Amino acid sequence: MDTVFSKIVRGEIPADIVYDDAATIAFLDINPTQKGHVLVVPKEPYPNLLEIDADLLGHLAVVAQTIARAQVEALQCAGTNLIMNSGTAAGQEIFHAHFHVIPRFEGDNALLPPNKTEYAEGEAGTIAVSLRTAVGNLLSNGS
Ligand code: AMP
Repeated sequence: MDTVFSKIVRGEIPADIVYDDAATIAFLDINPTQKGHVLVVPKEPYPNLLEIDADLLGHLAVVAQTIARAQVEALQCAGTNLIMNSGTAAGQEIFHAHFHVIPRFEGDNALLPPNKTEYAEGEAGTIAVSLRTAVGNLLSNGS
């Protein structure tokens, strides 16, 4: 599927590029959560976290770490949010997997604090068992 990010990769629409290699491009988000907010995008357009090639995901994470270090150096930010929205329920708008690297400053309130919920008695144990089983199944299937 062609996305706006693929158009940026091909140079068909402009972007403020901060990094480029054979597999990855990183550029400023056009509607930043904070000034200096960077998107780290694989050149190959996997739709989301579940689909992206594992080695490419690892490379993307390393590039995101370098971008975060660059934000500290260039913008003197005090922290970073590294986010990948996967699926509409998680707020994904562009179905071309990407990391958001968001520089944060003390007290900037750039992101809402996350919701904190609670488990009923015994519920955490049940959920952990079902997740452990699913992880075991995925690993034994080589996923
Ligand atoms: P997501 O909701 O995780 O899919 O994030 C998509 C992000 O892409 C949003 O933060 C948008 O502001 C950003 N975006 C959309 N179009 C462009 C563009 N042409 N250049 C840079 N960022 C863009």
